[in-house]
Amino acid sequence: GSSPKGNFIEQEIEKDLKEGKNGGAVLTRFPPEPNGYLHIGHAKSICLNFGLAQKYNGGCNLRFDDTNPTKEDVEYVESIKKDVQWLGFQWEGEEKYASDYFDQLFEWAVKLIKKGKAYVDDQSAEEIASQKGTPTQPGVESKYRNRSVEENLDLFMRMKNGEFKEGEKVLRAKIDMASPNMHMRDPIMYRIIHKSHHRTGDKWCIYPMYDFTHGQSDFIEGITHSICTMEFEVHRPLYDWFLDQILEGEPTPERRPRQIEFARLNLNYTVMSKRRLLELVEKGIVNGWDDPRMPTISGLRRRGYTPESIRAFAERVGVAKRDNIIDMALLEHCVREDLNKRAPRVNAVLDPVKLILTNYPEDKVEWMEAINNPEDESQGTRKIPFTRELYIERNDFMENPPKKFFRLGPGREVRLKNGYIIKCEDYKKNDKGEVEEIYCTFDPETRSGMPQSNRKVKGTLHWVSASHCIPAEVRLYDRLFLDEDPAGHKDKDFKEFLNPDSLKILTNCKVEPSLKDSKPLDFFQFQRVGYFCVDPDTTEDHLVFNRTVSLKDTWAK
Ligand code: ATP
Ligand code: MG
Ligand code: MG
Repeated sequence: GSSPKGNFIEQEIEKDLKEGKNGGAVLTRFPPEPNGYLHIGHAKSICLNFGLAQKYNGGCNLRFDDTNPTKEDVEYVESIKKDVQWLGFQWEGEEKYASDYFDQLFEWAVKLIKKGKAYVDDQSAEEIASQKGTPTQPGVESKYRNRSVEENLDLFMRMKNGEFKEGEKVLRAKIDMASPNMHMRDPIMYRIIHKSHHRTGDKWCIYPMYDFTHGQSDFIEGITHSICTMEFEVHRPLYDWFLDQILEGEPTPERRPRQIEFARLNLNYTVMSKRRLLELVEKGIVNGWDDPRMPTISGLRRRGYTPESIRAFAERVGVAKRDNIIDMALLEHCVREDLNKRAPRVNAVLDPVKLILTNYPEDKVEWMEAINNPEDESQGTRKIPFTRELYIERNDFMENPPKKFFRLGPGREVRLKNGYIIKCEDYKKNDKGEVEEIYCTFDPETRSGMPQSNRKVKGTLHWVSASHCIPAEVRLYDRLFLDEDPAGHKDKDFKEFLNPDSLKILTNCKVEPSLKDSKPLDFFQFQRVGYFCVDPDTTEDHLVFNRTVSLKDTWAK
């Protein structure tokens, strides 16, 4: 969304600023429900809300929309705070909780009852739903709709005091059962839930619904622009109606929030509802919320995504009003673009086969200078050890290579990066028929800086010294689902489309010794292989790397 005039949300904000609304303030909010870990869709919303705050010199609140004690947990609160900060954003002051407003919301509910705008309904949720009508047919008014103010006040107090069981009573707004907008047909404001809340404990057994909570929380905090996803567009009249009701008879406030909707982010080859992500975690299909295959922020972080790459992705996706599905390849493109600029180049051999230089002295070690990052001179150089015995990738050698294979084969020459040109003289197989050792000679005149160093050979291979390398485990990830829209099939469960090969663990990898002291989340380009980061499972004597993304870009620009 980077037209010269800005995206449509920016245009709306600028219009409000020009008209002097809200005393010139811009305050947005990011309002997650703490019932799961954040995913890439939330990241879009975070970048948007905090980005607008930065652009207009305002602020952005972090507010936990914690009105349903049955699904919420402090573990989620902590993870959400961590993820927002990791993305590079800081909220205004302390984090906020909708549950902090329960007293105020209760008072406003009483105000509505006193105005004859709310009533207690004894019907079950099913009965109420069955009376909703259809968009073209009016609903049926509840037989409790015309209770007196006194009776409603008494029943609501008794609801609050715990005299009724769950489902026995609800508080409803009295609006219009014939409204063409289904959300205006006497929506539920409060329901009874006898459950401890992670913040308010057992103080409450009635909890406000989203529609009666969100706009009022925005108002309490002085939010000016309440940005949410498109499915809430039909809730907007109700958002405004509740604000009108609570503000009636009050002096005009300096700020009044308005809701603006944008299209939610959808990604192919994954699922993004917290319900489904939770199912993957609970059934052990993935290894937790931060499994590197998950579209969660914590999963992407562990996979090796950088905050920069996720912010760039959110920017590229832009802000739309119409639903769209974004290609996973764009997300991968964004991390590749960032890591290409920043990731140090190192040597790692994932599937090693030994290569012996028969004319190289046995105890000799040459420390070859290697450039850390050709895209960034400031990253300097390092020394890598070159020895008689090396490892190369098994698939860089073929016994009977075709013409177009420019790597190693009997009688062929290749260059070893930062080393010498070598020639394959022979090889040995084990009794399983696998190539076990490759014997080569090296040309001592071809080390860089030497007279023959520019001699042309077609292939260049990466390698590590067999005596100096360190063992490592490498985890290769692929898409978690084989279908573009796994949750989009009416007759099939999304889990039927899981990719059985989404994780491949290689336990026999060899990496260059400079990686010895690397720390979790350090990122690298394994030359000729891909981008990798250090997994937090790494211990002092066991290095674990995750493949973030391969080198090959499939994003069609
Ligand atoms: P889910 O369907 O995954 O449970 P949710 O909308 O119920 O998502 P919330 O915790 O309520 O989850 O979301 C917090 C904020 O993030 C909301 O403002 C919501 O609109 C926004 N958000 C959630 N998913 C997306 C998405 N896919 N794209 C953009 N914004 C999103
Ligand atoms: Mg929600
Ligand atoms: Mg949800």
